[in-house]
Amino acid sequence: MSTSKTTVPFSRDSLDQVLKRRFFFAPAFEIYGGVSGLYDYGPPGCAFQANVIDTWRKHFILEEDMLEVDCTMLTPHEVLKTSGHVDKFADWMCKDLKTGEIFRADHLVEEVLESRLKGDKEARGIAAEVKEEDEDKKKRKKKVKEIKAVKLPDSEVAEYENILAQIDGFSGPQLGELITKYNITNPSTGGPLELPVEFNLMFETAIGPSGQLKGYLRPETAQGQFLNFNKLLEFNNEKMPFASASIGKSFRNEISPRAGLLRVREFLMAEIEHFVDPDDKSHAKFDVVKDVKLKFLPKDVQEAGQTELIEKTIGEAVASGMVDNKTLGYFIARIYQFLIKIGVDSNRLRFRQHMSNEMAHYAADCWDAELQTSYGWVECVGCADRSAYDLSVHAARTNEKLIVRQPLPEPVTVEKYEIDIAKKKFGPKFRKDAGAVEKWLLARTQCELEDLAKELADSGKITFKVDAIPEQIELDTDFVKIAKVTRTEHIREYTPNVIEPSFGIGRIIYSIFEHQFWARPEDEARSVLSLPPLVAPTKVLLVPLSSNPELQPVVKKVSAVLKKELIPFKIDDSSASIGKRYARNDELGTPFGITIDFESVKDNSITLRERDSTKQVRGSIEDIVRAIKEITYEDSTWSEGTAKLTPFETQSTE
Ligand code: AMP
Repeated sequence: MSTSKTTVPFSRDSLDQVLKRRFFFAPAFEIYGGVSGLYDYGPPGCAFQANVIDTWRKHFILEEDMLEVDCTMLTPHEVLKTSGHVDKFADWMCKDLKTGEIFRADHLVEEVLESRLKGDKEARGIAAEVKEEDEDKKKRKKKVKEIKAVKLPDSEVAEYENILAQIDGFSGPQLGELITKYNITNPSTGGPLELPVEFNLMFETAIGPSGQLKGYLRPETAQGQFLNFNKLLEFNNEKMPFASASIGKSFRNEISPRAGLLRVREFLMAEIEHFVDPDDKSHAKFDVVKDVKLKFLPKDVQEAGQTELIEKTIGEAVASGMVDNKTLGYFIARIYQFLIKIGVDSNRLRFRQHMSNEMAHYAADCWDAELQTSYGWVECVGCADRSAYDLSVHAARTNEKLIVRQPLPEPVTVEKYEIDIAKKKFGPKFRKDAGAVEKWLLARTQCELEDLAKELADSGKITFKVDAIPEQIELDTDFVKIAKVTRTEHIREYTPNVIEPSFGIGRIIYSIFEHQFWARPEDEARSVLSLPPLVAPTKVLLVPLSSNPELQPVVKKVSAVLKKELIPFKIDDSSASIGKRYARNDELGTPFGITIDFESVKDNSITLRERDSTKQVRGSIEDIVRAIKEITYEDSTWSEGTAKLTPFETQSTE
C-alpha cells in the first residue's frame, strides 16, 4: 500500500514511530506500564481532534440547524435496562482455561481463518496480499502453527472466504459451531478453548455513597438525547423534522483491545439523532446531494460471500430501494462529504450495509462508513434508521408520552378505545399510589385497552401490576370503564422515527493518519503527514533563516499578523538547518512554512512553502497571510490561493 504522493510502500511501523515521537497520542499511564485500550492525546493530537470536532460542528450542527445537548456520562441502571444495553450490549468471548487468555470470539475466528487462507496461498505459490500487523499480533502469530504454508482442501477455501465475508453477522452459538467445526484453538499455544460466552461491555458503578443506585458509564451518547426529546421538540417550536446532536466521551469495556486508537475503552463520539415522521422520510435537501457518487457494499453481496463494491450515486441508491429512504440517504452523503473534507481518502472509504442477521430487529436499515486501514476495513461511522424503538421503550417504561402532536389538515373520524377513571374514588383506595395507578392506566396502548376492555366485560374487573407498587391491583367497573367510541379527531399523534449517524472520532483520526502518511521517495526517512490545512494542528511554521537578531523584528511582525488573523502557528528559531526544521513539521502535518531572510528585513517580503510539493512563492507579509487564510479556511487550492504571488526558486534548503 502506498499513497499517490509516493512510490514508497506504507509502513505502519514508521507511522507509529512518528505519532509517538511527535506525541500525537500515547498509552495512558505509560510509566505504570499502561492499560490496554486507554490513550492520552498530546498537543498535536489534541489540536487535530479539536479541529475535526470544529469541522463536524460546522458541517452538521450549524449547516443543518441541529440542537446540541451535553448529557451526563453517568447513567442509571434503569435507563440502560430499558434501552436494551443491560441485556444485549455484549460481545462473545472464549477463554483458554489453562492459560487464562481471553479472546473475542469473532475476531479469533476471523484471525485464524485469515491466517489459514494465507498459509494456503503460500502453499499454492500465490502471492498473498500483505497486511500490516501490529507488534502484538506479530508476536502471537510467530507461535501460530497454522500460518505455515499448508494447503487447504478447495471446498474449505471457499467456505472460509464465505464465512469471512459475513463475519459480522454470526451469533455467539454460531461462532461456537465454527470454532468446533474448524478446530479453532488458542493461536499461540494450540490449547483448547471454552465455547463463547456473552460479556457485557458496560462499565458498572454505583451512584452515591449508599451503593444502592446502580449505574454505568454510558456506552454511547444517544440515550440523553432521547430522554430530552420533549424539551427539544418544545425548544424547536414543535416543528418536525429536527435533529439533536451531542459530542462526548463513551465507554466500552472491550474484550481485548489491540488495534491502537481503533479499539479503545474510552473514546470521543459525535452522535446525531434526527427525528422524522415515520410516514414521510423525504428530506428537504436530498436533491443537493443526490449526485454524490459513493461505493456501496450492500447486504445481498455480503450474504452471497462476496465483497465487490457497487459504485452509484446516492440518488440511484435510494431510487432503487437499496438505501431505505431519502433521509438516511441524505445523511450517508453528508457523512461522505465530511470525511473527505477532513482528509479521508475516497478510494479507501466504503458504505457497508448491515446484513439482516446483524441488524437490530427494530432497525429499518443500517449502513456503516468503513475506512480501509492496514488493520483491514474498519467501521468508523454507523448510520442507522432505528425506527421508533428508542422513544417507544422509554415512553412505555416511564409512562411519559414521547410523541409529536400535529394538527390534521382535515378532521378524521376514528373508532378507538377510551378509558374513564373514577378519580375521586382512587384517592381513598390507593392513597399515595393513586397517581401512579392512574398514570399506568392512561399510558395503555389501543391494543392493551382492547384486552383490558375484554377482561372487564368478561369478569367485571381488571387485575394488573404497576412498577414500584408491590401488590397486584384489582379494579372493578365502579373505578374504571373502558369502551369503544367514535370520535372526530383534529390532531394526529405519532412517535417519530430516528435516523442516527454515530461517529467514533478516534477511529476516524487514526484512519486519516494512515491515509495521509507517506515518505519522500528521494529520502525515505523523511515522512510527511498530509493533513488538510483546515484540520492540521498547526497551520504555519515560522522559520527565520538564522538566529541573527536583525531578523527578529520581521518575525515579530509576521507573528502579530498571524495572531490577529487567529491562524495557529509555531516559531522554530533553533539552530537546525531549514531543511531539518521543515522535515520536523512535515511529520506534524503543518501545511505551510514561512521563511524570513535578510531580504525580508529590507522589503517586508517573505517566502511561503507548501508541505507536500515543497513549492515556494514570495510576497508581502499581508499577501502571504491572505493566501494562507484562503487556502486553509476558504477552500482555495494552492494554485488559486497563490496565483498572484511570485514563484520562488529555493537555494536548496530542502
Ligand atoms: P456503534 O454504536 O457500535 O455503532 O459505534 C459507533 C461508532 O463508535 C463506531 O462507528 C466507531 O467509530 C466508534 N466505536 C465503537 N467502539 C469503539 C471502540 N472500542 N473504540 C473506538 N471507537 C469505537
